[in-house]
Amino acid sequence: MPLREICWLDGRLVPLAEARIDPRDRGWLYGDALYEVVKVRSGAPLLVDEHFERLRHGLSRVEIPEPPGLERALGRVLAASGLEDGSLYIQVSRGAGPRSNLPPPDLPPTGLVMPQAHAHPGEERREVGHRVVSHPEVRWAHLDLKTTSLLGGVLGKLAARRDGANEVVFVRRDGEIAEGGSANFFVVRDGRLVTHPLDGRILPGVTRRVVLDLAAEAGLEVVERPPRIGERGEWREAFLTGTLATVRGVTVFDDEPVADGRVGPVTRRLVDAYEAFERSAAGG
Ligand code: PLP
Repeated sequence: MPLREICWLDGRLVPLAEARIDPRDRGWLYGDALYEVVKVRSGAPLLVDEHFERLRHGLSRVEIPEPPGLERALGRVLAASGLEDGSLYIQVSRGAGPRSNLPPPDLPPTGLVMPQAHAHPGEERREVGHRVVSHPEVRWAHLDLKTTSLLGGVLGKLAARRDGANEVVFVRRDGEIAEGGSANFFVVRDGRLVTHPLDGRILPGVTRRVVLDLAAEAGLEVVERPPRIGERGEWREAFLTGTLATVRGVTVFDDEPVADGRVGPVTRRLVDAYEAFERSAAGG
């Protein structure tokens, strides 16, 4: 069934074509807004509690109140749109008011929930690795907040596309690798998973969390410290994690193959474990 083009905006379900956001909205003017992307599989929204926990934590950090009815809006949008496979985009901005860097007090926030239909990559793509390119860390200092101010990330993605890569990976001046443009980054080295710790310099990915739990169940040892570009000759595997990409092997890094240039056994095991986790979360 085709998607009915509706969205939830400030408490009401409206046709997408009729949804209007005030040009003075601070999300538009300042990027003064947070967002989430929830995957929908077979009509079921996945990991909603985890996405809302991150959103609520972020909202309290940036002092934006939660729009009333936001979480309930997910079910309303799913029912009204008929979305089966795709995602729900959730955005909360500080609201609209007279333009001034300092927000006026007590603005009502703007809340949006918008369905997007898209196919999810199937298991047949498990063997297909991503090409990534490194890029200087040009983003800001609060990367644990899922803010819509994504210009640094967008510049990195554009650079990746120019180089024929699927994703960018941000690297700090000292050679520490933070994360991808829209994914967390892992390497396998000395039989262990290595990934950046949650210290405010990366997004605490919901998929990253699930993958760490699945790795623990599989008896894999994990070291939470930044992977380093200078160690790349020792990487046996590398992969990215994200809500829509799930677990995706990285086989080419800055135009050089990672190990033998194939998606490795640890990555494939985690791809399978993640697929099984999702299938059961989506109701089988
Ligand atoms: N890191 C960044 C910068 C992201 O934008 C995203 C998702 O968009 C992720 C990591 C992965 O997070 P999640 O697994 O919650 O989708």
